[in-house]
Amino acid sequence: MLTKYTFVKASADLIQKCYFSIKLRYLYFYLYDSLKYNTMHKIIILSFVLSLSGLVLKVDAQYLAPAQRVFSRQDTLRGSITPERAWWDLTYYHLDIVVRPSDSTISGTNTVTYRVIEANDVMQIDLQEPMNLIKAEQNGKPLDFMREGNVFWIRMEEEQEPEKIYSVLLTYGGKPHVSTKPPWEGGITWGKDKNSLPFIASSCQGDGASLWWPCKDHMYDEPDSMLISVNVPSNLMDVSNGRLRSVVKHKNKTKTYNWFVANPINNYGVNINIADYAHFSEVYDGEKGELDCDYYVLKGNLEKAKVHFKQVPMMLAAFEHWFGPYPFYEDSYKLVEAPYLGMEHQSSVTYGNGYKNGYLGRDVSGSGWGDKFDFIIIHESGHEWFANSITYEDAADMWIHESFINYSEGLFVEYHFGKEAGAEYVLGSRHNIRNDQPITGIYNVNVSGSGDMYYKGGNMLHTLRQIIDDDEKWRSILRGLNQEFYHQVVKGSQIEDYIIEKTGLDLKPFFDQYLRDIRIPVFEYYVKGDELNFRWNNCVQGFNMPLRIYVNGEPVNISPTRGFKTIQLGHSNALITVDPDYYVAALNMTGK
Ligand SMILES: [Zn+2]
Repeated sequence: MLTKYTFVKASADLIQKCYFSIKLRYLYFYLYDSLKYNTMHKIIILSFVLSLSGLVLKVDAQYLAPAQRVFSRQDTLRGSITPERAWWDLTYYHLDIVVRPSDSTISGTNTVTYRVIEANDVMQIDLQEPMNLIKAEQNGKPLDFMREGNVFWIRMEEEQEPEKIYSVLLTYGGKPHVSTKPPWEGGITWGKDKNSLPFIASSCQGDGASLWWPCKDHMYDEPDSMLISVNVPSNLMDVSNGRLRSVVKHKNKTKTYNWFVANPINNYGVNINIADYAHFSEVYDGEKGELDCDYYVLKGNLEKAKVHFKQVPMMLAAFEHWFGPYPFYEDSYKLVEAPYLGMEHQSSVTYGNGYKNGYLGRDVSGSGWGDKFDFIIIHESGHEWFANSITYEDAADMWIHESFINYSEGLFVEYHFGKEAGAEYVLGSRHNIRNDQPITGIYNVNVSGSGDMYYKGGNMLHTLRQIIDDDEKWRSILRGLNQEFYHQVVKGSQIEDYIIEKTGLDLKPFFDQYLRDIRIPVFEYYVKGDELNFRWNNCVQGFNMPLRIYVNGEPVNISPTRGFKTIQLGHSNALITVDPDYYVAALNMTGK
């Protein structure tokens, strides 16, 4: 996922989760676009629009303080491991669909195969309105089901015996939600290429895969493998995840593309990309052997892509160095052109950055180093390690994906342009930090935290590296995370605990400060004669982060706490500065 338009996405979410008419939605967007007001103004405008409609505002905004938020039963059903989800363990999906550009519909089946953990007779399947579940069957027998908003409750007929494997065949269809701001608003994009041929893609992080196919729409459970069969008009091609197993031609001028994913895959990673694609490929000689790299681009962009995508092997070299082997050799690596900016779809990263360096041509760090690479190729591909291999269990811990991958941009710069360049990139990005809300979101209701999970999260990791003060150890921790949690769904606390264990440092207050608090710790100090007096302020209880300062330009490592400490400097009136690689503030208490 990307950072820049998270505000727009939140606003769209806020609207989406209130039930009011399309016309009012347009009115809101009109007001939103025409009035560049702050969040509170937007909420007032939205309330006004809603009061006109006579509907009750169900406030679910990301930008209100947690205490002000009201969550519905639908939020809980979407965001928690309900008893109707917990009793079965996903093993396999076969999504078999027809995508019709002529009427913007998707229809077909999903075969859900699972192992019973504990006997139960009601299964929760998610499929969002306006999509509709038509039929549910087990072993050829129809099952009763009931709709509750975006959830279907399916009543099992057969006894569900623990440890046994069963399948449910779900038949569904409809006109899926059209995304007006992909990928920040989930849905399907029905675009056209320059030759007026369909150019179609799905994107659904946050809003959920159940926008367009029926599934267990919670991140905690992934199938071990998946087959994605997509039927499209025969002049088009579908590119999904994994490897293309076969293409079946039909008499009705359509083709079915069968893509097989040999590894666990998260819900939002599953995607369709349908266009009149050109294809080229190369083999990357990587840490785990030969990695097939396939590129699918619009025909008019083929020559441009052949030059610009040379950044892919550069990305692989940097990230295999820092994080370990690319996590999906079996499924290959693909970069697929899409009608929106980009997304980390597993083994088929989508790309729409216009074949330019930077983020839509702009260096988000302002350091100059962001102009040296294509932000989308590097950032979205980095998510293969943190997002697709190591996946958050709850959206509240989305920092596992975005903090590490924001930081990875600096690591890419460091690998190719040197350590100083990497640090300049990370420090340069600080102007994007808001300190508005904690990086950690709200658990069990599918709510991620502040957009600070990107730049502040990246700076938190850069600060952590300073504390560890051993580059090889730091790299071994980054690679170790990718071994320990390879292809796993994890809680944020597992990542914190792993780093605490490997460093042997008391980092609990550090993570509390940067992930669960919005304050920037302040290093307060004053020099009296040849003594330096100092402490941490504006911080959580127990905050005790070691710090590197410079005394007349000479580095000195100190261990401030919340109480004042004193050290002898050996000479009077020394000039004190704080190492800028730490994301902290400094205050000379004498006002000098
Ligand atoms: Zn991202």
